[in-house]
Amino acid sequence: MPSAHLPPAPVADLLSDTLTKPTPGMRAAMAEAVVGDDVFGEDPTVRELEEQVSGLLGHEAGLFTPTGSLANQLALRLHVAPGEEMLADELAHVVRAELGAAAAFSGITSRTWPSDRGRLDPAAPLRLLATGVGPYQVCTSLVVVENTHNFGGGTIQPLAAIRAVRAATQPVGVRMHLDGARLWNAHVATGIPLDDYGREFDSVSVCLSKGLGAPVGSVLVGSSEFVAQARIWRKRYGAGMRQVGILAAAGRYAVEHHLARLADDHERTARVAVACANAAPASVDPAGVETNILMLDVAACGWSPGEFVAAAGARGVRVYAAGPRSVRAVWHLDVDDAATDHAGRVLATLLAGGGRESAG
Ligand SMILES: *Cc1c(COP(=O)(O)O)cnc(C)c1O
Repeated sequence: MPSAHLPPAPVADLLSDTLTKPTPGMRAAMAEAVVGDDVFGEDPTVRELEEQVSGLLGHEAGLFTPTGSLANQLALRLHVAPGEEMLADELAHVVRAELGAAAAFSGITSRTWPSDRGRLDPAAPLRLLATGVGPYQVCTSLVVVENTHNFGGGTIQPLAAIRAVRAATQPVGVRMHLDGARLWNAHVATGIPLDDYGREFDSVSVCLSKGLGAPVGSVLVGSSEFVAQARIWRKRYGAGMRQVGILAAAGRYAVEHHLARLADDHERTARVAVACANAAPASVDPAGVETNILMLDVAACGWSPGEFVAAAGARGVRVYAAGPRSVRAVWHLDVDDAATDHAGRVLATLLAGGGRESAG
């Protein structure tokens, strides 16, 4: 059988923190997992994962889902009735990267607030808040916060800003959902306990398949009643899974063994940010690089993102064209110090050279 012609593996694959492959220890945990039929609630490993993660986040119950998008969409569906509204920032994953699912599945309307690199300014959502507007205008039911912020460049949301939104929305019955795909990174970078973030929200989704390194999976947490409803909708959407403890075991292993090491990803990201800023000060402000995501303003250095991605790729560094000016690099479990040093040299050299001079 002819094999697919894959290009040679890059030296540093910084395309996304979803690329991680299960480690030998994780594979062993998967192989040994005790399993049962989870649709009948009989998979003990899934139960353990749901309890582990809901406990960490300070919520009553959890639900294992195949993707973070599904975890988010179950939450949106349950918090917002058809025709009602959710508010999110204009770069949020729920409005930019879930292909309109909130509208397509749940009849939800959305309004967005502008943000600087995704950072939450409490005044911005509160300005849009519409409650008690009677039968002729759309009512706000939900505010979504993303932490860390993906397209913002790994931005950590200040707890004080989250609390300010909570203090204004809770008394008027507007709920809050945390898209915490990378909440783990915010926790490790700040030392703020996961449940300090978690308890400010009615529901939280977290990804196991990003920097934590599991091959699949997210967990949605909330009250027992909320999660019972989410379980019904998960099945309705066709995502009731059977002996899925094999995957939950990878998630449990990831939370136990790969959480603290996210600090290494942050240190490596910061190191390359400094190298890039030294070579090309306009490309990045290292003070704004807070976790495992590096956004480079390659346009400020004379590059188009597409040309920069191709030039870096030819030198063994895979990065992603994230916008009309920017290129994104993401650190994770499978990028070590040697790959980081290589990436730092390549990116800094290309930025310093500028697009026109280096092209060809
Ligand atoms: C990755 C991600 C998700 C979920 O993505 P899936 O690919 O559906 O697992 C949700 N929110 C943010 C911010 C993400 O980065």
